[in-house]
Amino acid sequence: MAHTFSVCSKCASLNKVDSQKALEKTPSCGKCGQTLPMHGLVSEVTAEGFKKLLAKSDQPVIADFWASWCGPCRAYGPNFEAASKNLKSAVFVKINTETEQQLSAQLGVRGIPTTIVFKNGKEVRRQPGVIPEAAIPQLLS
Ligand SMILES: [Zn+2]
Repeated sequence: MAHTFSVCSKCASLNKVDSQKALEKTPSCGKCGQTLPMHGLVSEVTAEGFKKLLAKSDQPVIADFWASWCGPCRAYGPNFEAASKNLKSAVFVKINTETEQQLSAQLGVRGIPTTIVFKNGKEVRRQPGVIPEAAIPQLLS
């Protein structure tokens, strides 16, 4: 069964989530019951949640660094979400560069949107700009 991970925005627990169920209904945190911050199979994570996820995920993690004021980021969001539905062997997350400035600086994210792929907790690929949905799987190959 395909799965993904999401981090609770209330209690910061890492939740393993069944991908199919997440597409049918937004899942809740197994620990506190809070609705998980997921859009389809894309989870919003904070810097803390992201580090937890990188340490624990048994799948590659693909992160979209974005900001609400950024037009291209808003255009890219639906591509990223659509790709996540067909790529259930990776964990898709969104990181808000406005609220997570320190993490973005640590990773050297200069322009947004920027997509970064991590395997075994380490960066393996980085692609700035809007990426067509069909090109997103290539970042993971
Ligand atoms: Zn929780």
